[in-house]
Amino acid sequence: MTEAVENVDILIVGAGPVGMTLHLALAAGGQKSLLLDRRPLAALQADPRALALSHGARELLEQIDSWPTRAATPIETIHISQKDGFGRTLIDRSDYRLPALGYVVRYRDLAAALAANLAEGSLLAEAEIVDIHADDDGTTVALRHAGQLRTIRCQLLVHAEGTPGDDPAVTVSDYAQHAVICEVTPTPSHNRRAWERFTPDGPLALLPLGDEYSIVFTLPPAKADTVMMLDDAGFTDVLQAQFGQRLRFASPGPRSRFPLALRQRKTLVDGLQVWIGNAAQTLHPVSGQGFNLGLRDAWQLAETLLADGFDRDHRECIAASLQRYAASRQLDRRGGAFFTDKIVKAFSNDLGPLNLARGLGLLALDLCPPARHFVAKRMIWGARAWP
Ligand SMILES: Cc1cc2nc3c(=O)[nH]c(=O)nc-3n(C[C@H](O)[C@H](O)[C@H](O)COP(=O)(O)OP(=O)(O)OC[C@H]3O[C@@H](n4cnc5c(N)ncnc54)[C@H](O)[C@@H]3O)c2cc1C
Repeated sequence: MTEAVENVDILIVGAGPVGMTLHLALAAGGQKSLLLDRRPLAALQADPRALALSHGARELLEQIDSWPTRAATPIETIHISQKDGFGRTLIDRSDYRLPALGYVVRYRDLAAALAANLAEGSLLAEAEIVDIHADDDGTTVALRHAGQLRTIRCQLLVHAEGTPGDDPAVTVSDYAQHAVICEVTPTPSHNRRAWERFTPDGPLALLPLGDEYSIVFTLPPAKADTVMMLDDAGFTDVLQAQFGQRLRFASPGPRSRFPLALRQRKTLVDGLQVWIGNAAQTLHPVSGQGFNLGLRDAWQLAETLLADGFDRDHRECIAASLQRYAASRQLDRRGGAFFTDKIVKAFSNDLGPLNLARGLGLLALDLCPPARHFVAKRMIWGARAWP
């Protein structure tokens, strides 16, 4: 049986960390929205990822009381180097007068901190969208929820569904790399140092998390198949060979894998619909930019809508706000995509001349503070690093 049409100002599809951040940032400014997710909220607790969050991300999450203080491990130094090559760069928090360059948090702990602030009735979980129909004045979404068909009419539809599938509105550049992730125990202890080690197979990141390192081990798909099938001792050996001998690894936890591609939505806005977070751009995880960028999407959208005074009866005003939002996000999202894409392509090979150029680049970065500060500030603040 079809129920009567329900009206909301803003419907956010996707209650991942980006969708929840938008909802809470709007609520903090007095604007209601409804979140909708196809999965139960508890499903977020099964996500195995650890996220490196910038200092800037912490500042934003604190403003909506969603910073998971006890679950966050500070990063005090970042060591960047390449396998079988010279040159290295060290970025140190003391150069930036910050308590930390960034923090590592489990996706599930971040999601729990955000979900704890959702008001009752603000999330429709386990809802399956069956139709989306946009017209000049808004969008009508038909969905199945708890065995019933429901129809929701919204003025603004926000897509925060995460990585898009095949869609002609999205450009895709496949890296032919998969990320194998897991946690391992290091000896000696990590001392709050993160490592980014470039190898011909792809970047290997070690992120301090509690007493462990959270590993993002990037490999061509066939090698990832092999690595996923190894027993723990075999896996530790392969990891050790890729990283080198400066640390010893033991007790690897469960492994998961993610295929990697750069996916970019060509336009962020279509009428009264807007795309944010991974739904707008999905990046390679090198240098941990993806969620940081998505968080800034959510924040900027909330700020723009609140500053313009969301007026449900004036579609032109909402459309103008969305255009302002899209324009304001270009530099940050293009910069993030360019930065990660170029790093992956420049470093994921073992061509002799490039090896030399990379070594010189890492050395120059280390010896030239302005260049190093630029890279560090990009990681700390995103687009605000640009002059
Ligand atoms: C291996 C790996 C390591 C990473 N490391 C980092 C890092 O260190 N730092 C960093 O900043 N980023 C990192 N990222 C990127 C980060 O994980 C993403 O940018 C972030 O999770 C995106 O959040 P989101 O809310 O946009 O999407 P998601 O987290 O994917 O959430 C999307 C939500 O939408 C829901 N949904 C999907 N489709 C529908 C639908 N049709 N209807 C209703 N609901 C729907 C889903 O159920 C989900 O709850 C990493 C990514 C990978 C793969």
